[in-house]
Amino acid sequence: MAVLEPCDNCGRQTAIYRLAAVILDGGMARVCPLCASSEKGRIEVPFAPRSDQGAIQPSTSRDVW
Ligand SMILES: [Zn+2]
Repeated sequence: MAVLEPCDNCGRQTAIYRLAAVILDGGMARVCPLCASSEKGRIEVPFAPRSDQGAIQPSTSRDVW
């Protein structure tokens, strides 16, 4: 039997293994898959740096890793 926890964004009871730990409005939150996809603009995923900010600058000149 799955352990259910409420989504920190919508409160939906969600199996704990389906919740994603993210940074929401500057604080840690666990959100369900629905919020993870619908609230992308507010959510920062700490372990998946956004590629559109150019935060990671390759130290080499290679374009393809
Ligand atoms: Zn949710």
